[in-house]
Amino acid sequence: MIARVTLEIALRKEFDYLIQPGLEGQVEVGTRVQVPFGPRKVLGVVTALAEESAHAKLRPILKIISTPALVTPNVLALARWISGYYCCPLEIALKSVLPEAVRREQAGWRERLFVRALPFAGELPKLPKRQLEVWNIIEERREMPLQELLELAETTAATVRRLEDRGLVTVAPQISERDPYAREHILPTQPLALNPAQAAALAAVMKAMDGPNAERGARNVELHAAADRELNRQSPIVSRQSTFLLHGVTGSGKTEVYLQAIAHALAQGKGAIVLVPEISLTPQTVERFKARFSSGPLQTLVAVLHSHLSAGERHDEWHKIRQGRARIVIGARSAIFAPVEPLGLIIVDEEHEHTYKQEEAPRYHARDMAIVRGQLEGAVVVLGSATPSLESYYNCRKGKYTLIELPERVDNQKMPHVRVVDMRQAARKGKGPPIFSPQLKEAITQRLERGEQTILFLNRRGYSSSLLCPLCGFVAQCPNCSVSLTYHRTEQKLCCHICGETKPVPAICPNEKCRNPGIRYAGLGTQKVEETLAKLFPHARIKRMDSDVMKRKEDYRRVLGDFRIGKTDILVGTQMIAKGLHFPNVTLVGIIYADLALHQPDFRAGERTFQLLTQVAGRAGRGDVEGEVFVQAFTPFHPAIQCARRHDFAGFYEQEIEFREQLKYPPVSRVALLTLKDRNEDKVKFSADHLKREVENGLRGLKDLILAGPAPAPLLRAETYYRYQIMVRTRQMSKLSRLLAKITGALALPKDVTLTVDIDPMDLS
Ligand code: ADP
Ligand code: ZN
Repeated sequence: MIARVTLEIALRKEFDYLIQPGLEGQVEVGTRVQVPFGPRKVLGVVTALAEESAHAKLRPILKIISTPALVTPNVLALARWISGYYCCPLEIALKSVLPEAVRREQAGWRERLFVRALPFAGELPKLPKRQLEVWNIIEERREMPLQELLELAETTAATVRRLEDRGLVTVAPQISERDPYAREHILPTQPLALNPAQAAALAAVMKAMDGPNAERGARNVELHAAADRELNRQSPIVSRQSTFLLHGVTGSGKTEVYLQAIAHALAQGKGAIVLVPEISLTPQTVERFKARFSSGPLQTLVAVLHSHLSAGERHDEWHKIRQGRARIVIGARSAIFAPVEPLGLIIVDEEHEHTYKQEEAPRYHARDMAIVRGQLEGAVVVLGSATPSLESYYNCRKGKYTLIELPERVDNQKMPHVRVVDMRQAARKGKGPPIFSPQLKEAITQRLERGEQTILFLNRRGYSSSLLCPLCGFVAQCPNCSVSLTYHRTEQKLCCHICGETKPVPAICPNEKCRNPGIRYAGLGTQKVEETLAKLFPHARIKRMDSDVMKRKEDYRRVLGDFRIGKTDILVGTQMIAKGLHFPNVTLVGIIYADLALHQPDFRAGERTFQLLTQVAGRAGRGDVEGEVFVQAFTPFHPAIQCARRHDFAGFYEQEIEFREQLKYPPVSRVALLTLKDRNEDKVKFSADHLKREVENGLRGLKDLILAGPAPAPLLRAETYYRYQIMVRTRQMSKLSRLLAKITGALALPKDVTLTVDIDPMDLS
C-alpha cells in the first residue's frame, strides 16, 4: 500500500511513501506521519491512499505520530475546499485545521505523579504517626496527585515513599488533564420557558435537525466529490432547510435558543460547535454553556478553544473532543475545525463580526466555513446577530437561508432612546468642533448627580484620515467608487484607494454654499477624550479601555470589574467596549464621533457604522432605568446613522443593498483582493502593472469581471513595506479562484516582491 502525504514544509504537492508491513492497517487518510525528505525527516498528513505509484523506489514512512487519525475525513474535505476556494496550498490549509499544540511530534499530555492505595491482606501494619496520617488520607481518597497529597498532609515525598516500600501504595506517572476553567464554580441551570418568538425559532431549528438532511450523515457522502461540487458553485452551497439566520435584537434571548437547540442535538446523539468572537469568549459566556450541560441526562464535557489557552490546555481540550468525551465545543474562529463527530449543529453567534475572517493564509471566513462544513456533515447551521451582515441577509432574501426574527427584548425592556446630535451646529457656535456637544455634557452631568454610569465610545480604527469640513460636513469622495478619498500628507494629495484616482487637496471647503477655510483632517483619539473629560468633570472617576492601555488579560478584567461594582463613573473606550457587556447601571451611552467609521475607504463603511452604533447603543438600559444614547455626528442624516437611531435594520438593508447593486459590490458580486508589497515603491508599482496585465489576459473568460487598480493600498506603507492593490470583482468566485491560482502560480515577480490573494476580503486596507 502507498500513502500520499502532504508535507508541512510548503511544496504544493503530495508525495508517495510506502507503508511497510509493520504499519499496515494503522495508516489511514488523516493520519499524521513522519517521513524522510532528502536527508531530513519531516512531518505531514496522509491525504490519500493508493494501490500503486507512478514513482519507482519509494521510501517508507518512518513513523506514525498518532492514532487514531487526527484529521477526520470531513475536516480533510474542508481543508481541500479551503485550499481550492481561498487559493492556498493544501499544507497551509491543513495547518489551520489542527492546532499547533496538537500537531507537535511529542504527545502533549501532561503526566503527573499519582499516589494510589493498594489492597492489602490482613491487618494494617503498625505505622509511625506521620505515615499513618498520610495513609488515612490516601485510604479514603484511593487515588490523588502526589503534589496534592503532600500539601494536604503537610509532609514530604519521603514519607509517601516509605508507604510505597511497605507495599501499601504505588506512586506512578499518570496523565493529568488540564482544565482551564477548573477554578470557576459553576452552578447547573435548567432550560427556561421560552417566549413565543423564541419557541417558534427553536421549533424551526429542531424541525430541520430532524429532517432528511440529518440522515445524510458524513459517511453517506462521497466526500471529495462533494467538496469538488462545492467548488464549482458560485457560493458555498446551502440548502434552504438547513441554514438559519437568527436576527434578534440585543437581549432578545438568542443564547437560550442556542442552548435548547444544542440539547436537541445531544438527545439525537450528536454534538455541536458554537463559534463566538474572541472578544466575547469571557468566562461568563463559557459558563452559560457549561452550566447547562454539566449535569442531567444530557451531561457532557464542554470543550473551549481559544487563543488565551496555554498550548497544553489547548492540546487537552482538543483531545477531549477527538475522544468524544466533549461533545460541545465553544470557541473562536478556528473551533470550526474541531473534530466533533457526529456533528448535528453549528452556531455562529454575532455572525457579522469581522474577526471571523482570518487575516493570514489561509484567509478563510469561519462563518462561510460553518456553512460548508454543515453541508458536508448534514448539520444544521444557525447564524445569530442583532445586526446581520449584508451577505447573510441577502442570502435570506435569495431563499438560501431561512430568516427567523426575535424582534423584542426578553424582559419587556424597551430599546434605548437614541438621539442624534448635529455636530455642525455645535461647531458653528464655538471656534471648532468640540469633543462634547452641550447636550451630551448635560446628560453626563445628570448621570453623575444620580449616581448612574456612562459609557463613552470612540471608534478610532483606521490609519489614514479623511478630509472633513466641520461646518457643513463635507467629506471628499471619489467620483467613481463612492468611498472617501484619503489624505496623503507627504504628497499633499487626496487619493482613492480603490481605483487610484487622485485630486489636489483643497485649501477651502469645496462645497459652494460653505467655502469654509477651516477644512481639516478628521482624527481624534480616546486619550484626548479622557483628558478633556477629566478637565470638564474633575470629580468623576474615569477609566479608559483601548488597546493602548489594555496590555494584558488582567487589565481588561480589572477595569470591567471596577466598573461593574460601581467604582468607576465613566468608561471611555474603543470597540473593545461595544460588545456583549451587560451593566444594569449604565443608563447613558455617548458616541463621540459616529462619522469616523463612515469615512473609511471601504465599501462596508456604512454597514460597519450601522452595526457599531446598534451594538454600542445596546449597552444602554440593560437594567430598570430606560437607557439613553447620544450619537454625535457631522453627517446626522446619513442612512446608517438614522436607521441605527430608529433600530431599523430592514430599512438600513434596503438602502445599502441598492448602493451595492449599483456599484457591484458584495454581496451582489464577490471580491478578490490582490496585494503586492515590497520595500521599494517603484518595484511594487511596476510589479502591480505587470500583474494587472496578466490578470486581464488570464481572466478574459469571466463575463461579469470588474478590474480596479492598481492603486496604493489605504495603508500604503506598513512596517516599511509599500503596498499596491488590484481589486477583482465577479459573481463566479470559484472559477475566479481557479484562474487566479493558475495566474499566480506562473507569475514571475521580482525578487522580494510578495503577492497575497485575499478571497472575500473583509479588510481592504
Ligand atoms: P441575546 O443573546 O439575544 O443578547 P440573551 O440570551 O443573553 O440575549 O438573553 C438576555 C437575558 O434574558 C439573559 O439574562 C437570559 O437568561 C434571559 N432570558 C432569555 N430567555 C429567557 C426566557 N425565555 N425567560 C426569561 N429570561 C430569559
Ligand atoms: Zn475611486
